[in-house]
Amino acid sequence: MSNSILVDNQKTQLEIHLRRIQRPRDYQQICIYKDVNPLEWDDWHWQLQHRIHTREELSKIIKLTPEEEKGIEKAKGRLFMAITPYWATLIDPEDANCPIRRQAVPVSAEFVASAHEMIDPLAEDRDSPVPHLVHRYPDRVLLLVTDHCGMYCRHCTRRRLVGEGEQDNNFVSRFEPAIEYIKSNRKIRDVLISGGDPFTLEDEIIENLLQGIRSISHVEFLRIGTRVPVTLPQRITEKLVNMLKKYSPIWLSIHFNHSKEISKRCKIACDMLSEAGLPLGSQTVLLKGINDRPYLMKRLVHELLQIRVRPYYIYQCDPVKGTQHFRTPVSAGINIIEKLRGHTSGYAVPTYVIDGPGGGGKIPVGPNYVLSQAKGKYVLRNYKGKIYTYLE
Ligand code: SF4
Repeated sequence: MSNSILVDNQKTQLEIHLRRIQRPRDYQQICIYKDVNPLEWDDWHWQLQHRIHTREELSKIIKLTPEEEKGIEKAKGRLFMAITPYWATLIDPEDANCPIRRQAVPVSAEFVASAHEMIDPLAEDRDSPVPHLVHRYPDRVLLLVTDHCGMYCRHCTRRRLVGEGEQDNNFVSRFEPAIEYIKSNRKIRDVLISGGDPFTLEDEIIENLLQGIRSISHVEFLRIGTRVPVTLPQRITEKLVNMLKKYSPIWLSIHFNHSKEISKRCKIACDMLSEAGLPLGSQTVLLKGINDRPYLMKRLVHELLQIRVRPYYIYQCDPVKGTQHFRTPVSAGINIIEKLRGHTSGYAVPTYVIDGPGGGGKIPVGPNYVLSQAKGKYVLRNYKGKIYTYLE
């Protein structure tokens, strides 16, 4: 390849990179939102009610590709398209490969299933002794409290469950059997509340749930999994935060995938949660063409630390039906960890895991630093490839 072609390629790469990290549009720059009152814009109910569901609505904001048009038409029923107006401001209207856009807009590749993909790759339905509860490890349970989310991510592992029906706000009928199950099983010390997104429930329902769980003396550790600070940061209100504080300690696992998601508004939401004393961790799904390059992941983990979110996990994208176009080789994840560990602060290095298909749980995968092991002796390599011997 000639030098001039190389230089042109590098320029193109740089332009793409700069586009991908640019900051969001102000919502008033988008014609269909120009007359929206700022109070309405910052109201999470308004954002949910005005989510974008159709090709016609979305084409007023971005220029759709034929692939996207077909995808939107097919994505009816479960995991239908639902994009908050806020998320739409983060989308690059000109770039079909914009990382924000690819996570939200269906494409026809979603409707092609590859041979090894499954509907429920983590076998959660099999390990569910009562409705809404998954019990796999002796001391931990997962409570799936809603099938609603702020936005429906196209790579969602729980696409079999999320995105349909009316929100059922009847606490007793919904969660009582799960609460009773936790009460009667004294080994359970850790409860993860997830869904869907628990923060799409009204404050009173979340509070009932937290009260119910906190009244069980053997439950020590309470976690909530959410993507709302990223897709619908308006949901993090003072009222919600003050209520959560009462049931402290509660740890939050927030699903972040790209540095472009960390807008000023998202930072405000994370600041409110941190200042209420809620420890924040991130869970990231490794996604082809979105965050599978080490420099992109490095930017994400650095920006997360700046908003007080500790990078916790990078997940290999689960083999769920219709996600083949998002999945990277495992070597891409290992390479990312290789380029992070030792090359940046330890707090910025998450654990890369594969959720064992069929219910194996999270299995850490990473570069190999132990080169050999004999009695009383380990031969190790460091992040620069230098060899060291450790004698026990
Ligand atoms: S927020 Fe979570 S549960 Fe909801 S669609 Fe996205 S990945 Fe799935």
